[in-house]
Amino acid sequence: MTPIVYLDHNATAPLRPEARDAMLAALDSVGNPSSVHRFGREARRLVETGRRQVAALAGVVPAQIVFTGGATEANALALTGLGRRRVLTSAIEHDSALAWATDRIPVGDDGRIDLAALDRMLAAGAEPAIVSVMAVNNETGVIQPVAGAAAIARRHGALVHCDAVQAAGRTSLPAVGAEVDALSLSAHKLGGPQGIGALVLRDGLAGLAPLLRGGGAGRPAPRRHRECRRHR
Ligand code: PMP
Repeated sequence: MTPIVYLDHNATAPLRPEARDAMLAALDSVGNPSSVHRFGREARRLVETGRRQVAALAGVVPAQIVFTGGATEANALALTGLGRRRVLTSAIEHDSALAWATDRIPVGDDGRIDLAALDRMLAAGAEPAIVSVMAVNNETGVIQPVAGAAAIARRHGALVHCDAVQAAGRTSLPAVGAEVDALSLSAHKLGGPQGIGALVLRDGLAGLAPLLRGGGAGRPAPRRHRECRRHR
């Protein structure tokens, strides 16, 4: 019989056994991480262990991690929540970033974003902007010049966001702080479960507005709201 080979890890990767074991253990524990009793404290311990692990992957401290329901939400949070109405994304971003673009940065024949065009576009507008460039394209695999785009953006006073979903676990990530202000991650591209991701924020980045407000204790909305408030 011909063995079946799955080759679409860029779309979603198989769950790693370690991730499955950790999830099963978490599903068996009861407790709202906001509760002060021992069940709540145990749930909080699990969340904070995960936060430390994601922080280690991104080379930051745990307080810089905001958990989200995936990179779609992380991209939306970065591109709507940081108070910049002008949003420049490359023309080859994932739809979840393109959806918020006010301006599309062109891409050359080599599949890399056109840095000279980015420079011109930023020079042409005075409104405070955020520039969003992916680390690696999900369809072509082309590694993007994030450091170059970030240097240009900073010269123009723009914030920099990077969708690093396709880089995590495969190649080095842009440095949060030195290069980018915010970086999106998604678990299911590197052997984790679908439906969870993170937005990594530069230390001291002010003014992140939550996507969702209200809701019951322990449910995603207030959790993310509280996590965002930490970065005000
Ligand atoms: N950005 C990129 C580059 C992606 O490849 C994907 C997934 N196809 C996403 C964002 C969205 O990630 P998620 O499925 O976690 O919402």
